[in-house]
Amino acid sequence: MIDLKNLTIQKAHEDMVSGKYTAVDLANAYLKNIEDKNTELNAYLEVFDDVIKQAEEADKKIKEGKASILTGIPIAVKDNIMIEGRRVGAASKILKDYRATYDSTVIERLKKEGVVFLGRTNMDEFAMGSSTENSAYGVTKNPHDTSRVPGGSSGGSAVAVASDMALAALGSDTGGSVRQPASFCGVVGLKPSYGSVSRHGLMAMGSSLDVIGTFGKTAEDTKILFDCIKGKDKYDSTSMDYDAVNLSENLSFATLDDFIRASAKEEGEFLVKKISESATKLSERGLKSVSVDIDQKILSSALAAYYIIMPAEVSSNLARFDGVKYGPREEGGNLLDSYMKTRSLFGNEVRRRILLGTYVLSAGYYDSYYGNALSVRDNIRNLFKEIFSKADVLILPTTPTPAFKIGEKADDPLSMYLADVFTVSANIAGIPAVSVPASSVEIDGKKLPFGIQLMSAWGNEEKLFKVAKSLLDK
Ligand code: GLN
Repeated sequence: MIDLKNLTIQKAHEDMVSGKYTAVDLANAYLKNIEDKNTELNAYLEVFDDVIKQAEEADKKIKEGKASILTGIPIAVKDNIMIEGRRVGAASKILKDYRATYDSTVIERLKKEGVVFLGRTNMDEFAMGSSTENSAYGVTKNPHDTSRVPGGSSGGSAVAVASDMALAALGSDTGGSVRQPASFCGVVGLKPSYGSVSRHGLMAMGSSLDVIGTFGKTAEDTKILFDCIKGKDKYDSTSMDYDAVNLSENLSFATLDDFIRASAKEEGEFLVKKISESATKLSERGLKSVSVDIDQKILSSALAAYYIIMPAEVSSNLARFDGVKYGPREEGGNLLDSYMKTRSLFGNEVRRRILLGTYVLSAGYYDSYYGNALSVRDNIRNLFKEIFSKADVLILPTTPTPAFKIGEKADDPLSMYLADVFTVSANIAGIPAVSVPASSVEIDGKKLPFGIQLMSAWGNEEKLFKVAKSLLDK
């Protein structure tokens, strides 16, 4: 029996190279867990039928002494990342039975290493949501309490890792979709710097915000996957290479208690307490606490700016789903009728955002909505520059609450959007952020994970990994 609970990528790699077990054994162990758990949790929309064949290829590489750290490592992939020839659908009816015609760049890079792809994971339709309830294929359940949501939109990937149905996973983060489900499920979730990972082959949501991120049980695992997928790609002109930052001996951190209190009135004191516990731990481990004095109103406007910029980009990106280019086509009496019938395959949340986006970009409203949101975006970027000129890392909660109940916010979009209050600013500014399972809270006799979020300046992922590790070390 392989101890999947305590398995890391490094450990699995060493075990396979030393012959303790094969990549096929490891894949079988995960397939067994998927068989036992997925019916209830609904993390996977599809488990690939060639997993063992992929693992055999990996075993060959290992035998020939050509293994890298990722050879034979079984991972799960969010349903909006293209793998050539396989189905991919962003959990939407409008892409039912659609197959990817090429590999996304991240997949191409992982394939080169001999990674084993277990399957594609459930998500909110087109990555719009914070609970995975907006999937056209049913909600994913939180393994810590199955009456609760796993978070979203990458809920399936987070659950796959949290319940040992994958060793690590890929997700996408436009406003928190890797970090928030990581927080709710008790795993590490990295949202890298904008442009550090190619978006080629990721279904676009908000192109100026989207980034592919990684899930793992440890900070090291998210780093190993990130190191493989990052870097310039000729198919994404916004992608780039950069050198890892030099880590000075004593990293410094800042907290923003007033901003937390202002952002989450009811939970404010609970959140400030959680952050101060983490701050104390970091101080004990040699990090330096610095105070930053900022205009918190600027940071508080991030959520409003996000819910203007994101739908504006959504409305334009999703115009391509018209029944002509991709997926199923619903025939109508004329072209417009066919478009309308086909596009009625979109779920309610997707429609809401397309409408919102079309509105904020319309003549007469453009300046007061979209134009204003862009200037707020500049202010937020400058504010982070100021913060990171004083501190290496900023510590915030990932979410205002631990995982909420299935159905609790489903009929109230605004309360769902408010769950993103601490995550969207990193996307607005393009900076890296990670959610670390460093805390928990007991509700209804169940221990629910609660994520602590770390942010840093653009390109400074290494600082996040280092601080995340010291938060998690026993
Ligand atoms: N929850 C956010 C939203 O609904 C974030 C989504 C995401 O990051 N893809 O837009």
